[in-house]
Amino acid sequence: MQNKLIYIFLDGVGLGDEVATNPLAQVSMPTLSQIVGKKLIRDVEVLTENVLLKGIDACLGVKGVPQSATGQTCLFTGYNAQAFLGYHLMAYPNDELVQIIEQRSIFKYANEQGLTNIFANSYTDGFFHSNNTSRYSVTTRSVLAANNRFNTMDDLMKGKAVHWDITNSTLQELPNNRVPEVSPYQAGINLKNLTDDYDLVVFECFLPDLIGHRKDMEKARWFFELFDEFLRGILYNKQDNIHILISSDHGNIEDLSFGGHSMNEVPLLVIGKQALQFQNVSRIDEIFDAIFSKLFHVKN
Ligand SMILES: [Zn+2]
Repeated sequence: MQNKLIYIFLDGVGLGDEVATNPLAQVSMPTLSQIVGKKLIRDVEVLTENVLLKGIDACLGVKGVPQSATGQTCLFTGYNAQAFLGYHLMAYPNDELVQIIEQRSIFKYANEQGLTNIFANSYTDGFFHSNNTSRYSVTTRSVLAANNRFNTMDDLMKGKAVHWDITNSTLQELPNNRVPEVSPYQAGINLKNLTDDYDLVVFECFLPDLIGHRKDMEKARWFFELFDEFLRGILYNKQDNIHILISSDHGNIEDLSFGGHSMNEVPLLVIGKQALQFQNVSRIDEIFDAIFSKLFHVKN
């Protein structure tokens, strides 16, 4: 059976020390512990038949603290974006990074290889009515580069998409909102169900980066408990050919002693029978190639 992948990008999650200011050292995540058996902290390493967990480098030899635009371009194009620019770029991709994304975004490349793919995140009605392209994220640019369609609020209501906050909580603040909240468990099931129709499903959540910048331990604990439930939904009745890969663009939330990004390694967690194929990945720009060469057996 064809391998399938659910690629979850969590913004701002690194592997930090086992200290009181690291929510990952404090919080209980029963689903994750059952699979991994260890906490997501510095120097963690798990290699079993179906699970790979290790720390990987997000700095990529470029001076300074890693940032979102360059880190995410690495994750979703496989290029060393920070080396290309010569620095780490915050937030949204600039013209130079957009060029890289247009050359080889994960969705565009998947299309070229005949792999069905979807960016699972849903977009609000406001996105389709705005022309503010300067605030397009790497993932939005990646969808555009592939000429793929964006998921709408209608897709979300049909359970065919997942909102960036997982439970639709931020949508409840919108006037005349028509989207009800969902449990993280149900959102996980919805995400997993997309593999019925697609080989590659990508989802991004930037809650941990927001919480990290606010240095909010209570919210951080809340997030990881919620994420654990989300993971429980994803794993429910998961078929053997479906793989889950979780990684990040830079550290942040694992050290709430300050409200900025860290230079810590970020986790690479792969769940599924081909997990050990990712053993040689040691940097965030190496994930892309491993996905296509090791999991989807694309030959260059
Ligand atoms: Zn980021």
